[in-house]
Amino acid sequence: MSFLTAYQNGIYAVDALYLRPRLAAVHLIKEADRVALVDTGTNDSLPRVMSALDELGVSIQQVDYIFLTHIHLDHAGGAGLMMQQFSNARLVVHPRGVRHMIDPSKLIEGATAVYGKEEMARLYGDVLPVDPARIVEATHDLRLALAGRQVHILDTPGHARHHVCIRDEKTGHIFTGDAFGLSYPEFDIGSRQFVFPGTTPVQFDPEEMHASIDLVMSFNPGAIYLTHFGQVHDVPGTAREMHRLIDAYVEIARRHKNTGKARHDLIRDGLAQLMVTEIAAIGCTLASTAILEILKHDIEINAQGLEVWLDSESRPR
Ligand SMILES: [Zn+2]
Repeated sequence: MSFLTAYQNGIYAVDALYLRPRLAAVHLIKEADRVALVDTGTNDSLPRVMSALDELGVSIQQVDYIFLTHIHLDHAGGAGLMMQQFSNARLVVHPRGVRHMIDPSKLIEGATAVYGKEEMARLYGDVLPVDPARIVEATHDLRLALAGRQVHILDTPGHARHHVCIRDEKTGHIFTGDAFGLSYPEFDIGSRQFVFPGTTPVQFDPEEMHASIDLVMSFNPGAIYLTHFGQVHDVPGTAREMHRLIDAYVEIARRHKNTGKARHDLIRDGLAQLMVTEIAAIGCTLASTAILEILKHDIEINAQGLEVWLDSESRPR
């Protein structure tokens, strides 16, 4: 399988090869001889992005923008290194993410707390800072032009408060980062995709996630592009499933809210059961052990994120 997927209208997905094939994408928008990246993956995706540009006949000087949907390191970890390489690019990032791109120490600290020092180094390497003069704040409704092609920023909290979606006005398609769920090709049944919410710590908010999905739907996009992974065509069906699954996650979290020490395991097992049931319901014939192996990491961090949300909910705001 090639690492470069060409969609129509100058939209591409580069496989960042993060953890496994087709888990994380660096999307490209090409207009005339200019290119924008949407998310960067980690430092390790740079060689693949370079060969994708080469394949598209574009030089590193022709990269005008790096858009970050949000600053979680599987999306933004490679931004500093790529900004060094792509010397004409501007980095477009949510206002809440700007200071962390200038000084990534908090991001590194946060990821080290989750993964431990060794794993952090293995997954993300050196997360490099970005020159503040080259950063554009991705405020809601901002429009930027890529060789005249208008790109429209939508503020989309829920997965994280530093999350934006990027709407390509030429196609009406929207790059949704993690705001509209994740989908792994292992679970595809023909053209049918299983899309599920990502509730990564520490800013998951179900009401905001519902509202961001509604905001994306208000533009009636013919397709969306998930960072994990690629193009989704049945956007209304996916929106319905996302709304339903966010509620199902919240129900699992609330059900186990007051279970003390057992809470984490109960929520994690509840999510695991939900995933197995839902994936079987779409007709996927993988054994539940295989499903859970693929989703092990997601289920664990989604359980953690739901717990952080439960705790924040019980605190006065
Ligand atoms: Zn994320």
